[in-house]
Amino acid sequence: MPQTPPLESDSAVYKTLLESTRAIPWKIDWPTMSFSYIGPQIEPLLGWRQDSWVSANDWASRIHPEDRDRVVNFCIAQSQAGVDHEADYRALTQDNGYVWIRDVVHVVRSDAGEVEALVGFMFDISERKKTEEKLLALQKELEALSFKDGLTGIANRRQLDTSLAMEWESARHGQRPLSLLLVDVDLFKQYNDLYGHLQGDTCLREIAQTLRLALVGPRDLVARYGGEEFVLVLPETDGEGALRVAERCQRLIEKLALPHAQSPHGQHITVSIGVGTVMPSEGLSPQQALGRVDQLLYQAKQAGRNQIARLDGPAQKT
Ligand code: GH3
Ligand code: MG
Ligand code: MG
Repeated sequence: MPQTPPLESDSAVYKTLLESTRAIPWKIDWPTMSFSYIGPQIEPLLGWRQDSWVSANDWASRIHPEDRDRVVNFCIAQSQAGVDHEADYRALTQDNGYVWIRDVVHVVRSDAGEVEALVGFMFDISERKKTEEKLLALQKELEALSFKDGLTGIANRRQLDTSLAMEWESARHGQRPLSLLLVDVDLFKQYNDLYGHLQGDTCLREIAQTLRLALVGPRDLVARYGGEEFVLVLPETDGEGALRVAERCQRLIEKLALPHAQSPHGQHITVSIGVGTVMPSEGLSPQQALGRVDQLLYQAKQAGRNQIARLDGPAQKT
C-alpha cells in the first residue's frame, strides 16, 4: 500500500497532536493539486482509506453533487486570490451516505507571494447541522402558527393585516376592485350564556370552517378579526361578486342549523354581514375601508340582524 507522505515537519509530537484531534488535518500542494497529507481520522469518519486521497479531484468527487460546484468554485477562487476561507458541505461516505463537514482552509504563500499550498482542517459538523435543521423546521412551524388563530385554525388578525396590505397594493397597482366582508355572529353573548363558553368555542370553530367554504377565488381569505367577528378579503371581486359570497355565507350557516333558543331567526345561529367594495387609492387605507364596512355591519344589526348591508342600504336575505 502506498504510504501517505509525512508532514514536512519531522516533529513526531506535532504529528501525534494533529492525528489525535477530532478535526482532520490535511495539506494540498497547489502546483500539483495533490494531497501531501491527510490525517488518518478521515477513514473512520468517511470510510475512504487515508491513501485514497491523492489528488484534489478525489476531494471534489467526494462532495455531494448538490454542493460540489458551489464549494469547488468558491475554494478555487479564494485560493487563487490567496484568501483564507471556510466552506460547509456534505462529504460523501464510502457507504453512500454523507457527513456535514466544515473545511477551514489556510493559504500558504511563498516569499514571492505565490500560492504554494493549502492547509486546513475538516470538522464534522453533522450534529450542529442536525440541530440547525431542527431549529429551522421549528421556526417554520412557529411562523405558520403565528399567522393562525389558535381557536379556529383559520388566519388570524396578523395574517389578515399582512394579506390585506398586499392585496391592497396589488389592487391599487392594477386598478382592480377589492371587496371586504365583515361577518359578525348575532346574539353571541346570549349563546354563550345559554350554552356555555365551551359550546361557544365549538360554534365559532364551525362558523370559521363554514365561512371557508364560501370562498371562491384562489386568493380569497377568511380571517378571525376578533371575538365572534370574521373578515373575508376578496381580491378582484366587484360588488355583485361580493354580495354573492355574502349570501353564500348566510346560506351555509343557515344549513349548519346550530340551535340558538333565543334567536328570533328560526331559533338558529345567524350572522350579519357588512359588504364593501373599493378601488384602492392613495387616499384610502385598508383600515379606513374596514371602518366603512364596520359601519355597514352596524346598519345590518340595526335593521334586525341576519342581514347583509351594502352601501346602497341593507339587502334583505332572499
Ligand atoms: P350582536 O348581535 O349585536 O353582535 O350581539 P352579540 O351578543 O354577538 O355581541 P357582543 O359584542 O355583545 O358579544 C360578543 C360575544 O362574543 C361576547 C363574548 O363573550 C363572545 N366571545 C368573544 N370571543 C369569544 C370566544 O373566543 N369564545 C366564546 N365562546 N365567546 C367569545
Ligand atoms: Mg361583535
Ligand atoms: Mg355579535
